[in-house]
Amino acid sequence: MLKLYEEHAKKPHPPKIPGITKKTARFLKLKSAWYLLTHDTEKLFLRYVLKHPVRYLLPLLKSLFKKHTFTIDKDFYLYNIKEPMEVLQEHGVFVLGFSYCQKPLDCPSGRFTDTCIHDSSHPVCKQCFICQACETAPPKTRLLFIPTVHYIGEKLLELREIYPAKDITFLITACELTLKMFADWGNMAGLRGIGVRLDGRICNTMKAFELSEKGIKPGRTIVLDDTQKRILFLLEKHPLHKKEETTLPC
Ligand code: SF4
Ligand code: SF4
Repeated sequence: MLKLYEEHAKKPHPPKIPGITKKTARFLKLKSAWYLLTHDTEKLFLRYVLKHPVRYLLPLLKSLFKKHTFTIDKDFYLYNIKEPMEVLQEHGVFVLGFSYCQKPLDCPSGRFTDTCIHDSSHPVCKQCFICQACETAPPKTRLLFIPTVHYIGEKLLELREIYPAKDITFLITACELTLKMFADWGNMAGLRGIGVRLDGRICNTMKAFELSEKGIKPGRTIVLDDTQKRILFLLEKHPLHKKEETTLPC
């Protein structure tokens, strides 16, 4: 039976912020595209997208004109899958990612960073759901700790370049705003997976989002307890665990 870290479960949750404001929701696709293109300091668009227009531009255009680019199953946003178990592919590449705003304020790896020691003997890590999820993830999981949207975009495009024919599935935590803003860009890279909606001190306006992209994010977000259980269930069931068992020497 799944058990959440007890210390975490006993902690009071941070105050909840309402979802995206109406003003923010207007023309969100356009705002997302504008933000990505005008803040593309690493030239991702040039390096990846324009290099392979058929691979990336056609799916992007298709997605931009689609009304619904994901379905919602409680706190799971499903991208190109019908149900959550579809992320558990034995022969694919599995990405598990966490937005930095979910890290504790006293995280030993720092908050606005792409690192995480997930050391269960550390007093802060042992109260952190990220640590529990990393420990439960199957071998060969690509762990990502995400400071910015361009960072996650670059990592996923890199994986797509390395494994052009593989099924890349993901389970990534993010707030409702970013899950909606960047759905088209995930479709562009042909990814399938689950965006896990964060609760707590989320960003619900473009202004808050833009500040968070510079590391200005004093509040902490959380994954709700029931959703944590769903994530751990999936991670425990991942077929890559079995694969590892069968390759062990007798
Ligand atoms: S497990 Fe949590 S507390 Fe520990 S380094 Fe990672 S994010 Fe920080
Ligand atoms: S926009 Fe804000 S709340 Fe949403 S994932 Fe980024 S830092 Fe977290």
